[in-house]
Amino acid sequence: MTIGKIHSIETCGTVDGPGIRFVTFLQGCPLRCQFCHNPDTWDTHKGTEYTPTDLVNEILKYKSYMKFSGGGTTFTGGEPLLQADFVKEAFELCKKNDISTALDTSGFIFNDKVKEVLEYTDIVLLDIKNFDPEVYKSVTGVALENTLAFLDYIREKNINTWVRYVLVPGLTDNLKSITKLANHLKEYPNVSRIELLPFHKMGEYKWEELGYDYTLKDTMEPSLALINEVKSIFETCGVSVYANI
Ligand code: SF4
Repeated sequence: MTIGKIHSIETCGTVDGPGIRFVTFLQGCPLRCQFCHNPDTWDTHKGTEYTPTDLVNEILKYKSYMKFSGGGTTFTGGEPLLQADFVKEAFELCKKNDISTALDTSGFIFNDKVKEVLEYTDIVLLDIKNFDPEVYKSVTGVALENTLAFLDYIREKNINTWVRYVLVPGLTDNLKSITKLANHLKEYPNVSRIELLPFHKMGEYKWEELGYDYTLKDTMEPSLALINEVKSIFETCGVSVYANI
């Protein structure tokens, strides 16, 4: 039987996809983003065990809220695709029960099992941490390549996609690379929205509690002027750009 390790659940989320959403945070992540708000999801040994049926039975309790609001369920993390078997089975059950599914991912894990998950995915929230491969590596600890291959694949499958970009002064505010990313995204008609997420330090205390070295201690939140500048660059893609301020 497939078992998933779940960090936590949020029954009425409103920021991870359309409408009211049952949000599941899966345990485990192979990335080490410097700005991560959830470093407590990294360790693959932790988490509460669920079967896909147990989890979907929980999700179904909220079906009327989801349907009424045009929402559904979102799987995030951590990196949910680290547990692709579990996500595939849970999403398949959701679809059988007429629940809309969203997958929030870095796109770093991209293999045949992930392609199976995408068969049952209505919306992908794709977190592109940077478009410059060197900066991407220094921000996340891993390579950008898979994320771009993942993006190509979801275009091929015509899966509705929201791209997310975390704006961190001095780290991901490289405007030339943001411009290149905006130009790149023009080639992806499946991308229907871009979300600009200004950096904040709400997760800093978790880094301290876990004994990890938080390198962004002295980094300020982005100014409104910078947020607006980056927003207008992304707007050249011709899709709606939402800045979460
Ligand atoms: S991918 Fe998400 S959970 Fe993983 S380190 Fe980056 S921000 Fe944190």
